[in-house]
Amino acid sequence: MISGAYRVLGTNEDETFCSVCGKKDLSRVVWLESDRGEILHCGVNCASKLTKWSQAKINGQIKNAINDNNANIRYWNSHPMVIAERGDMKESEFVAFITALLRNENQNEFVIKGVVNG
Ligand SMILES: [Zn+2]
Repeated sequence: MISGAYRVLGTNEDETFCSVCGKKDLSRVVWLESDRGEILHCGVNCASKLTKWSQAKINGQIKNAINDNNANIRYWNSHPMVIAERGDMKESEFVAFITALLRNENQNEFVIKGVVNG
């Protein structure tokens, strides 16, 4: 089991099982990043055990992550480079483009996935 501090990246439906306990058929998973940069997805129960945070705190962290994502998207939506590119792009291409930008900026592709799905 990974020890140390965690950060909640967000939540989405990209996986349906918990990578900690193996539970299946989850309606959504929580994405966590450890302080060593390891990324895992799990159910809320396991997220709570791993981080030693209450489920209420986990849910609060998920909300914060979503707010951060929205701030990222607002930032990139107003970026001159993005505005210049957007005219010729389909929605899916635009999302891929922003995802690539965020991956370069934050090395974090999961954050934006949460917003796209949510
Ligand atoms: Zn689990």
